[in-house]
Amino acid sequence: MGWRSFNRTTCSPSVGSRITSAKSATGTSVIFNVNRHINPTNVCVAHCKLCAFGRSPDSPGAYTFALDEIYLRAAQGVSEGATEFHIVGGLHPDLPFDYYLNLIRGLKQRFPRFI
Ligand code: SF4
Repeated sequence: MGWRSFNRTTCSPSVGSRITSAKSATGTSVIFNVNRHINPTNVCVAHCKLCAFGRSPDSPGAYTFALDEIYLRAAQGVSEGATEFHIVGGLHPDLPFDYYLNLIRGLKQRFPRFI
């Protein structure tokens, strides 16, 4: 699923008023979407200097979600009105490519309108 038009019934008053202000200021249409961020793992070997998310495999706070946990988080997002999954994660040195293939397949099976 992609973008959808602003709808006051699906948006908090605070966000709604900011969107309305932006629309007035620019004179253009304002669109937004509601997405669920799914970050399968924060384990990352890149160690970018700007990053506060990535962790070394053995660091405290390092995590990797099982696929069932990801599907649960996706379902929670859908029940809260998400129309898109935003999937970003660390560069895990040991996760097999099949993990990612199964992640996408599993989401597509469960939420065929997404992705
Ligand atoms: S998670 Fe992304 S930004 Fe952070 S260290 Fe890894 S590649 Fe860099």
